Amino acid sequence: MIIHLKKEAGLNKANEIAKELNAFLLDRPECYILISGSGHKELDSKFDSLVIEKFVFGDDIQLASRKYSKQTREVKIGNVSIGGNSGNTILIAGPCSVESEDQIRQSSELLKSLNLTTLRGGCYKPRTSPYSFQGMGLEGLKLLLKMKQEFGLNVITEVRDASHVNEVIEYSDVIQIGAKAMYDHGILKACGKTNKPVLIKRGFGTTLQEFVQCAEFVLSGGNDNVILCERGIRTFETKTRFTLDLCGVAFLKEYTNCPIVLDPSHAMGYAYGVADLTRACTAMGIDGLLVEVHPNPKVAKSDASQQLDHAEFIALTKHLLQSHLQLERKSFNFIFPFKLTCYGVL
Ligand code: PEP
Ligand code: MN
Repeated sequence: MIIHLKKEAGLNKANEIAKELNAFLLDRPECYILISGSGHKELDSKFDSLVIEKFVFGDDIQLASRKYSKQTREVKIGNVSIGGNSGNTILIAGPCSVESEDQIRQSSELLKSLNLTTLRGGCYKPRTSPYSFQGMGLEGLKLLLKMKQEFGLNVITEVRDASHVNEVIEYSDVIQIGAKAMYDHGILKACGKTNKPVLIKRGFGTTLQEFVQCAEFVLSGGNDNVILCERGIRTFETKTRFTLDLCGVAFLKEYTNCPIVLDPSHAMGYAYGVADLTRACTAMGIDGLLVEVHPNPKVAKSDASQQLDHAEFIALTKHLLQSHLQLERKSFNFIFPFKLTCYGVL
């Protein structure tokens, strides 16, 4: 249950009620927000005059629910908004891992040449094997900062565990919580305390309910800027790395108010399918794409098979734009009602 309380209640009274209901309390300029889980206690009727609005939910998808906010929440990545009234689809791109200054500079130059605004690159890599490249750590974060300063790019980078979460929060414009890290409550809670956008990737064995509940940890901590990222789930199929769950995306669009980013690179696991998938993804009216691109994928230290080279990535951006324009023209805007402003492509 979510209750909006009038500011005239005062912080002490709001705290008292929150304690009584075993609820989270968010102190917002317009009101106090109390959030309590399923099986909550009812608010005593003596407080009725302080209540602005009450929302009751069937499960613990609450702050992220469309029932709570009909409109997709607006999240700002630097000076680009997604969600809200923006109608934008942002194309986030860069290598799987930051590997060297030369490599990440080439990636930054590519993005800049296409007018893209947001560079990805992992510095703390959650690898399946302890013997694989684990990322450059703080040194990599410093390189991302250097690229941000030189090229004016926003950077998104992942946090592997709670031990370096504050470092990642400090250096990034968007904090990425990876598919393996999304259950780390130390990370989720730390991300709830900042206002920086947080992109949460769905674990490959995670139900949609569990996925959105991870978002609830961050939202109930006070951070409104949560983006959900579908990156493929594990099925019986082995020919592709994972299976991109577009049905799940339809569910998220219908029932949640968080912007949705799709990551076809990790789902596919092979460069050859990524461009087609980006077109399928944007046809669903999503808020962003996350695509891995590397100056020389053959020598990439992680996820080599799925990273596009620069020529493939440039071709992808062109096809993405063309397919969008065709759809828009054919449909006179009613099959495809959203505006695709792939930042940098238009
Ligand atoms: C990544 O983005 O490079 C990554 C490791 O993704 P995921 O957490 O989805 O596996
Ligand atoms: Mn990767």
